[in-house]
Amino acid sequence: MTTAIKPPPPPTVAIQNHDECFPVHRIYCVGRNYAEHVQEMGGQPKNDLPVFFMKPADAVVVDGSAIPYPPKTNNLHYEAELVIAIGTGGASIPEQAAENHIFGYAVGIDLTRRDLQKVAKDKGGPWDTAKGFDHSAPLSAIRPIDEGGPLSRGRLWLNVNDEIRQDADLSEMIWGIPQIISILSEFYTLMPGDLIFTGTPAGVGPLLPGDTITAGIENVGTLKTHIVSGEDL
Ligand code: MN
Repeated sequence: MTTAIKPPPPPTVAIQNHDECFPVHRIYCVGRNYAEHVQEMGGQPKNDLPVFFMKPADAVVVDGSAIPYPPKTNNLHYEAELVIAIGTGGASIPEQAAENHIFGYAVGIDLTRRDLQKVAKDKGGPWDTAKGFDHSAPLSAIRPIDEGGPLSRGRLWLNVNDEIRQDADLSEMIWGIPQIISILSEFYTLMPGDLIFTGTPAGVGPLLPGDTITAGIENVGTLKTHIVSGEDL
C-alpha cells in the first residue's frame, strides 16, 4: 500500500549480540514502584494499583546518543529503570504466565520535566508533557531472556558525571515484573514490541547541558548518554 506522505522510520532498539533490532510498539511506564522514591517525592507508599502512564514509541534514544535539553522546563530529571521488552502479546495475562511474554530486559532512563509534573500533580492534570516528550526514553540494547534467564533481583545504579546518584536493587520494587505485566495487561492488550519502564528507586535529581549519564543493571547491561543544549544538536 502506498502512503500519501512519507512515514517516519519505525523506532527500534538494539539487541545484545544480535544483528536484528527490536521494533518498538508502545512505551508503558509504572510510577511509584520503590518505597524510598515515593517518600522522596512527598508521597506515601501504598498497596493501591500501580500508576501507569505512557511515552510515544519514537521517544526512544539509542545507547550512546546525545539528548538535547528539552524546551519548556527548568528542571529535567533522570530516573534509572529496568525496562521489560514484550515479545508475545496478550490480555489479562496471569502472573504465572507473565514470563512467557517477555522477550528481554533493558536499562532505561525515564527523563522527566519535574516542574511540569509538579504542576500536573497540583492541578490533577495529565502527565503527558512532563513524561512523554521527544527524546525522553534513552534505552540500552535489550538482553534477551533466553540469554541469561529471567530477572527478579540485581543492582540498579545511575551515575551523573561519574558520581553515584541512584543505587538500589530490583528486589525492592513494590510490584514485581510478573505483577506489572499481569495488571497492565488488564488495562491494555499487550503487543509484541511493547516496552514497560518499571519505576525508579530513590535518588532522582536534575540534569544540565554537559552532563554525562551512565546507568546499569546487573545481568542486563549499561546505558550511556549525555545532555547537550538544544541549540548544539
Ligand atoms: Mn519513572
